[in-house]
Amino acid sequence: MINLPENFDEYEETRREGFLEIKAIKEQDTRIVGMFCTYSPLELIYAADALPVSLCGGPEGVIQAAEVHLPENLCPVIKSSYGNALTESCPYFYFSDLIVGETTCDGKKKMYELLGKLKDVHVMHLPQGQMKKHDFLYWKEEMLDFKRVLEEKFNIEITEDKLREAIRIRNRERRILLDYYELGKLNPSPVSGFDINTTMEAVEFRFDKDEAYEEIIQRTKDLRDKYEKELKGKESKRPRILITGCPTGGLRYKVVKQIEDLGADVVAFENCSGPKEKIDMVDESIDPIDAITRKYLNINCSVMTPNPNRFKALGEMIDEYQIDGVVEVILQACHTFNVESTNVKNYVQNEKQKPYLRIETNYSEHDTGQLNTRFNAFIEIL
Ligand code: SF4
Ligand code: SF4
Repeated sequence: MINLPENFDEYEETRREGFLEIKAIKEQDTRIVGMFCTYSPLELIYAADALPVSLCGGPEGVIQAAEVHLPENLCPVIKSSYGNALTESCPYFYFSDLIVGETTCDGKKKMYELLGKLKDVHVMHLPQGQMKKHDFLYWKEEMLDFKRVLEEKFNIEITEDKLREAIRIRNRERRILLDYYELGKLNPSPVSGFDINTTMEAVEFRFDKDEAYEEIIQRTKDLRDKYEKELKGKESKRPRILITGCPTGGLRYKVVKQIEDLGADVVAFENCSGPKEKIDMVDESIDPIDAITRKYLNINCSVMTPNPNRFKALGEMIDEYQIDGVVEVILQACHTFNVESTNVKNYVQNEKQKPYLRIETNYSEHDTGQLNTRFNAFIEIL
């Protein structure tokens, strides 16, 4: 018997619908694994015949509830993640059989200790860097450990064949998503940054993955056709913006839409709301555990030190997407991205000779007007 939360009747309609949809899926004995971060190895979750759901971020309302246990001066991703679990207001949290989290930053890893009192949480310890031989070996042990946890939790065996199949499926999904993101390389882009962000977030919450990916293929094709027939050769005068830094889920209106409403096009995301994790495929020709270990270790995030892959990716994207200006988004109290922003600013301004704007924000609305002024001034100089 699968129960709904006690205060289910008090939720607004779309939230109630979300709960009912996942409840129906759970009643078909579907295993659900909640995850927060790009470092979560989806292939192992797929190979366990489980459905991964993204738990990152959430509405500002749950942040207040989280602040009863967490400090106010903490990243909103962490506070809203915990608040969602605490208030039982997120269907994905509520119905997750297991939650996997990585020790990306101090706030997150200590939050998991509290979250573990509410849900079954498995924590993967992430190495601090990517370059040393023992970084790989350490992360490989964490992969094997997570595999064991999934097998014990769901009483199954993750065979090599299953894992290889999961790698093939996931690589195909990456290519489909990458094709969609790369529409932003066209000039003018046939799709807004806001729509790119919205579509990508929606995919994570679709349960029929085959259907969701077929829709993305069709949408990409339609937008390419539109470009060929209506837009090609008519280069836009609107400045082309790349967003980097912290994930922008939860900031779509306040940052992405606001920039576009002010007259610029957000065509690229060098963050976890963009193609970052999709560019490198998992090597299908080697041992599958080694292959996923290498793939996920190589993800460039400011939690890694040093983090040279980020600058390489940033430079390539600035060129390939013909970027006029870079906006770096720092979430409140995210120390790793905040400190790294000095190097990003120097790189963008000095090496790539492009204007750079850094903003620090959270999920509240209180600084919307201030951001509007800063975006406006930035776009004017482009
Ligand atoms: S920015 Fe870093 S910590 Fe945050 S989701 Fe991406 S990889 Fe994970
Ligand atoms: S945005 Fe920064 S502080 Fe927040 S969870 Fe990600 S790495 Fe941690």
